[in-house]
Amino acid sequence: MEYTQYGKTGLKVSRFGLGCMRFPKDEKDAIEMVRYAIDHGVNYLDTAYVYEGSEVITGKALKDGYRSKTYLATKSPIWKITKHEDFEKCLDEELERLGTDHIDVYLLHNLYPDNWEKVKRFDGFTFLDKMVEKGKIGHKAFSIHSTLEHYKEIADAYDWEMSQIQLNILDEHHQVGAEGVRYAAQKGMAAVIMEPLRGGTLLNNVPAEVHELLEQYPEKRSLAEWCFRWLYNMPEVSVVLSGTSSLEQLKDNLRIFDEAKAGVMSEEDLQFIAQIRGVYESKRSIGCTGCRYCMPCPSGVNIPEIFRLYNSYQLAKPNVIDRLVYQRSFVPEGTGADQCVSCGLCMQHCPQELKIPDLLKLSHEELAEDTASFLNRLTK
Ligand code: SF4
Ligand code: SF4
Repeated sequence: MEYTQYGKTGLKVSRFGLGCMRFPKDEKDAIEMVRYAIDHGVNYLDTAYVYEGSEVITGKALKDGYRSKTYLATKSPIWKITKHEDFEKCLDEELERLGTDHIDVYLLHNLYPDNWEKVKRFDGFTFLDKMVEKGKIGHKAFSIHSTLEHYKEIADAYDWEMSQIQLNILDEHHQVGAEGVRYAAQKGMAAVIMEPLRGGTLLNNVPAEVHELLEQYPEKRSLAEWCFRWLYNMPEVSVVLSGTSSLEQLKDNLRIFDEAKAGVMSEEDLQFIAQIRGVYESKRSIGCTGCRYCMPCPSGVNIPEIFRLYNSYQLAKPNVIDRLVYQRSFVPEGTGADQCVSCGLCMQHCPQELKIPDLLKLSHEELAEDTASFLNRLTK
């Protein structure tokens, strides 16, 4: 495992951080996975109040001496804050769930504009300073899905020690992007990367053209490996989070991060990544990461799953399996995009700032289209 400095904090962290958002379903497997990661050099764990069941399981995994071997990061649910005192109330709840008396890195979660206004209105800064004084938290941080401009406004407003940013080969110039990572480094802040595989969409139904590129390139690596490599190649990146959901995936990640040194990619490698990016961009996919912040929809629309199907269909064309799933499951069950009444509620929570009702309409148009002619051709 490779280690690096965590901004100006003095912490030395593993470049691979275990994201605790997508644990295996079985608690025993999840605990085994977390401990395996720590036993193999991972010393950074990232969870959040809102990741269902995650803080409790993480807390259990960190018993038996594992807590002292890790830096633990978790996040405040800003949307639950209605007054200043709520910040500490939520933190205390998290400490109890995690079975610890301190959090090493405490993040204000997802500072999109509404949440940011709340942080200012309810004086989140004084809260963070006081918690450091009391020893309940070690370092002050925030996570964000927003524009670069908004990111800079927040980064400049307080003495943050880390920001957690979405970045992957498709998002170099999207949201905060690579420029935001460099901005963080200039300010002495650690940069932790989330969504390195864009919520898994980069690996689902990989286009045939990308497979060809991978086969033709002289250096043989998996797509996941190239995606992680592209990130840890950047010296400004402190930790790359990967939310593994099985021991097998974790072992593969550990292998990949075994050589997680900045500057490992050549100019040719970077050109190669640009070619892969070009293929994805030509497929017109919807930039949903599957975070589910938009759920539940009051009309029952299963927003992230519909976008996942739409994206999968764009990559798998002319295979119509995704259309069939949509037409035979979603629509009859009343969870299809046709149920959307364009109330706009979901858009207030979408960190990717997607125009959800419009994209649902587009998805429905494509996914609900008649598949009979295609099936007829197949059976002839
Ligand atoms: S805009 Fe449509 S999908 Fe979004 S919450 Fe309203 S009904 Fe649901
Ligand atoms: S539509 Fe937006 S909020 Fe909903 S799952 Fe996708 S990225 Fe998340």
